[in-house]
Amino acid sequence: MSDHVIKPLPRCIDVALEVPMRQLFSYLYQGAKLKPGIRVSVPFGSRNMVGVVVANREQPPDNIRLREIHSKLDEEALFSAQILRLTAWTATYYHQPLGEVWRAVMPAVLRKGREHTHGLLEWVYELNDLPEDWQTQLSRAPVQRRLIEAFYEPDISLRHANLVKAIPGCTAAIKALLNKNFLSREQKLAPVFPLPGTGIPNTLTTEQASAYQKLSQNSQGFQCRVLEGITGSGKTEVYFAMIDHCLSQQQQILVLVPEIALTDQLFARFKRRFGSSVVQIHSGMSDVNRYRRWWEIRSGSVEVVLATRSGVFLEFKQLGLIIVDEEHDLSYKQQDGVRYHARSVAIKRAQIHDIPIVLGSATPSLETVQNFKCGRYQHVQLLQRVGNSKLPEIQLLDLNQAKVESGLSPAALQAIRQTLELGQQALIFINRRGYAPVLYCPSCQWTAQCKRCDAQMTLHQQNHALQCHHCGARRGVPQSCDACGALELINLGEGTQRVEESLRACFPQARIQRFDRDELNTALKLKAAMDKVHAREVDILVGTQLLSKGHDFSRVSLVLVINADQGLHSIDFRAPELLVQQLIQVGGRAGRGADKGRVLIQTFFPDHPSLLAVKHHQYTEFASAELAQRKLAHFPPYSHMALWRARAGAANEVMRFLDSLAHHGRSIQPAETFCYDPVKSPMFKRGGQYHAQLLISANRRSALHQWLGGWVEQVEQDKLARKIKWSIDVDPVSLF
Ligand code: ADP
Ligand code: ZN
Ligand code: ZN
Repeated sequence: MSDHVIKPLPRCIDVALEVPMRQLFSYLYQGAKLKPGIRVSVPFGSRNMVGVVVANREQPPDNIRLREIHSKLDEEALFSAQILRLTAWTATYYHQPLGEVWRAVMPAVLRKGREHTHGLLEWVYELNDLPEDWQTQLSRAPVQRRLIEAFYEPDISLRHANLVKAIPGCTAAIKALLNKNFLSREQKLAPVFPLPGTGIPNTLTTEQASAYQKLSQNSQGFQCRVLEGITGSGKTEVYFAMIDHCLSQQQQILVLVPEIALTDQLFARFKRRFGSSVVQIHSGMSDVNRYRRWWEIRSGSVEVVLATRSGVFLEFKQLGLIIVDEEHDLSYKQQDGVRYHARSVAIKRAQIHDIPIVLGSATPSLETVQNFKCGRYQHVQLLQRVGNSKLPEIQLLDLNQAKVESGLSPAALQAIRQTLELGQQALIFINRRGYAPVLYCPSCQWTAQCKRCDAQMTLHQQNHALQCHHCGARRGVPQSCDACGALELINLGEGTQRVEESLRACFPQARIQRFDRDELNTALKLKAAMDKVHAREVDILVGTQLLSKGHDFSRVSLVLVINADQGLHSIDFRAPELLVQQLIQVGGRAGRGADKGRVLIQTFFPDHPSLLAVKHHQYTEFASAELAQRKLAHFPPYSHMALWRARAGAANEVMRFLDSLAHHGRSIQPAETFCYDPVKSPMFKRGGQYHAQLLISANRRSALHQWLGGWVEQVEQDKLARKIKWSIDVDPVSLF
């Protein structure tokens, strides 16, 4: 007899690890199959890492000595098959390391390898059978009595957090009641007791009802639909109707929104309507809170989720609908790390789940417009504002004809005066993209430059400092010109502060609130300022992009755009689209209440077609004309682009790298693709580093992907590339 035992062959498991490499890692495992979506602890180099099981393989790869998985961390899969597919798609489509994508998917708490219950367990209390004389027993213990009374029904259970909130300082009393055996407690996984909303649903207008009908026809299965509704037409109300329908089917809803600091008002509206089953996810949350939310959504105890970009990777129990609000917004594109576009990922996700998705906007992106024009997406419109409110009248103020002081033309000043006299609010919008107050020497034309960037420093009068908006460098305001020593330096350009000052001088009685990131650098300050506007404690709002989005200001009847022009002559082919969207959005803040609104746009180019389109409320016509231009020029959406970006401490190194990159790319270039020449980035020197880029495009997306696939692989082998910071940006939204 032989005591030779046949040992079963170890399994080979593919694991996704958060490392910047474009591959999965294989490990050996002795034991039963591992479920995809569980976490494992594995050795990686000299350390241990937490990874996610992606697949079990039949055969280990040849010729490689594999290491063993240390342990599995979960019994049940934390990540669903759909999320596994979505991460794989995202990594492939954007040519990003899978591990980097997992960084967006996996809550930080789980990444640290903790028990998945970490931070989720909570004490939950129940009332025991009480002795008859409990009131007498507690006659000198008012807090304990109040605690007992908090259990307004005998069978209810209450969370520790809720008790402490309702009855401050009750911890000692809870202990006493536990000792008396009046209460019992148990540790549970974050239970949620949903409270209904208190708001009464609006009756949909005829137009809204018909839009809702079209949007919910054949509501089963994947469908991409666009809700194009002018500002104030009540898109949100239509979303609500769709959400109601999903809730009645026990489904969850993901609502993607641009930037959460700006959407407090929207969140409050959702809460009024749907109560505590609505939650908000944003980047400002602590890891533990974020994880709690993640868990609540995954376990299905919350139903409506309002989230920014990265929310597209949340786990859901029963996702039934995705809404992308303000789908044209650029903040959906992540601009560093994994450069994904949340709208594209959301559409893919809807496809994977086989559910409908709705893209909403007053000014849909040209990509989206093209998609509904060619019939790929369904197009539904809202053309009227709700109630009696009308679209504002838009006027272009010709600056060639006017004497302008501190950015304000006489006609603009006149309009502000009238608005204030009527007791209404005026909103002054300063488009500051690439435009800010700078210090200027009239004797020698010197301006204050940042030493680390090819950029002028911005003057911040309040803290008497010059600051670089690209790298953050600061210096004091010089008393004399650095170049010629002249003592008379002047302030050029209309920053928010400068405009605010001249408004104060012209309207000393008016209450002025400035909205920009210097003034309102926290969400709390921003909210306080918004509250003041709604409470009518503000007469004039002065601000930047912060003011252009989404807000519903019912008393604003005048919007003044100080300077529309720099978007008209930009090297970026998207500049006209962005300018028109922004002007329509900010103009849409006017006249949302009962008062008729007015929009004034100051410009040196009052005949420019983009501005005329804004004036005549012709977004559709603008989009068609712009798309025709793009088609002629072979720009997206009629071609597909990717941008290689590189930076290094030495200027020649970065150019040498891109030259060799382009050389290699051309040697493997497929048909119907185009490789531009490497160029310095519009701002070559930034933060002490030199930036350059290489743009490529293709008529067909498949050709672009095939090309990039081979190309990226080669760059990863390249020794020179390791000294250079490089990245690839698929479907870039900005060519800077
Ligand atoms: P949009 O997002 O399209 O700009 P909103 O959804 O913010 O428009 O609606 C604009 C305003 O009209 C909001 O104050 C909203 O409460 C109100 N509103 C929208 N639809 C209705 C309706 N059917 N009945 C009453 N008020 C409505
Ligand atoms: Zn700088
Ligand atoms: Zn000088």
